[in-house]
Amino acid sequence: MSEKGNGRRDGEVKKSSAEVLSFPQSRVSLPGSQRPFHDLGYSKMCEQLGMPKEQTTGHWCSRCDGIWFGYLLEVECPVCGNRDG
Ligand SMILES: [Zn+2]
Repeated sequence: MSEKGNGRRDGEVKKSSAEVLSFPQSRVSLPGSQRPFHDLGYSKMCEQLGMPKEQTTGHWCSRCDGIWFGYLLEVECPVCGNRDG
């Protein structure tokens, strides 16, 4: 008896869960503040050019589980070289 109802709802559930899972991989968005992260420091370019730290942008590295700071256009993690955020 319960199978009838489930068969029809299954499609709806799949649709909605897929939307939830498609989390945008924004480079500046930080995961929940409850989760501790590593401070990966600043990019080499920032150190070399003496960039004012206030003008740097935080980048999330999923490989290091941490945040590093660099220019807005920089994408490479200074610690592991990961460019996928
Ligand atoms: Zn990294």
